[in-house]
Amino acid sequence: MAASIISGRVVAKEVREEVAGEVEKFKKANGYPPGLAVIIVGDDPASRVYVSSKKRMCENLGIYSEEYAMPESTGQEELIETIEKLNKDEKIHGVLVQLPLPEHLDEGEVLESIDPRKDVDGFHPISVGNFVVGKEAFVPCTPLGIMRLIEKTGVEIKGKRAVVIGRSNIVGKPVAMLLLAQHATVTICHSRTQDLPGVCKEADILVAAVGRPEMVDATYIKPGAVVIDVGVNEVGKREDGKRILVGDVKFDEAKEIASYITPVPGGVGPMTIAMLMRSTMDAAWRAVRDKG
Ligand code: NDP
Repeated sequence: MAASIISGRVVAKEVREEVAGEVEKFKKANGYPPGLAVIIVGDDPASRVYVSSKKRMCENLGIYSEEYAMPESTGQEELIETIEKLNKDEKIHGVLVQLPLPEHLDEGEVLESIDPRKDVDGFHPISVGNFVVGKEAFVPCTPLGIMRLIEKTGVEIKGKRAVVIGRSNIVGKPVAMLLLAQHATVTICHSRTQDLPGVCKEADILVAAVGRPEMVDATYIKPGAVVIDVGVNEVGKREDGKRILVGDVKFDEAKEIASYITPVPGGVGPMTIAMLMRSTMDAAWRAVRDKG
C-alpha cells in the first residue's frame, strides 16, 4: 500500500494557529506582544525572501517584528553592536541573524554575541550545549519542525531505529539529538559512511538531510518506514521561471515502500518558519517567567 503523505502545509498551519492563540493570551497577560528582530546583511536574494516571509508571518500572528537590513559593507563591530542593543531591548524576545553572512564577517563570533535567552535559531554554542545535556535551550527550527511531522504520524519513536543522513549543525546533528531524546536508537550517516543504503534500510524512521537530488531510492528504505525528506534541490526552471525543486528522496519509489513520507515541496519546508514563531513565543514566555 502506498505511504500516507505527511503535509507540512497542514501541520505548519496548526502550529501557526497554536502560536496565534498564545500571542493573544500573552498580550492580554502582559500588555505587549512577543517580539522578534531579524538582521540581514547584504542583498542575497534568497535570504531577502526568507526575511520577508518571517516578517509577514510575524504580522499575521500578531508578533511584533523589527528588521535590520544592513549593507554588504557592514563591519563586524557594527553588526555586533546592533545585536548587543537588541539583547538589551525588552520589546525583543528573539534575535536572529540571517545566514549566510558576507565572507568578511566572522559568523561564529556574530552568533555568539546573541544572548542565549534570545537565541531563537538555537545556533549559539551555549544553546547547543544546554540542548545536548538536556537543559532548557532553543533548538534549530528545521529539526523542531521535523519532530512535529514525525509526531503527527502517531508512530511511536521510543525504541525505534532512526537513521539521519547528514551531520550539519543546522539539521543532521540536532535532529539526531531530538530523536535520541525521544528514546530512538540513532545512527548518523555522512559522506564517508560505508554501505549507506544498507544502514538506511534498517531505519524505522529515516531522515534525509543531504542536499543531493533524489539520492535516496527504493534500496534505502525499509518497508513501513517513516521517511522525512529535508532536501531542497533545484533541478531546473519551469517555462514561467519558477524553480523546479526535488528532495533528497526519490519520492515515487519511496512512497510505495514507506508508511509515511513527506513531499518536496510542502513537507519540511513550511515547518521551519512556523517553528521559528513557536520558538519566539517560547522566548517571550521564558522572559516573563525569568523576570519573576
Ligand atoms: P549540509 O551541506 O550542511 O550537509 C549535508 C550533509 O550531507 C553533510 O553531513 C554531508 O556529509 C552529507 N552528505 C553529502 N553527500 C553525501 C553522500 N553522498 N552520502 C552521504 N552523506 C552525504 O546541508 P544542510 O544540512 O544544511 O541541508 C541539507 C539539505 O536540507 C539541503 O538540501 C538543504 O537545502 C535542505 N534544508 C532544508 C531546510 C528546510 O527548511 N526545508 C532547512 C535547511 C536545510 P559530510 O559531513 O561528510 O560532508
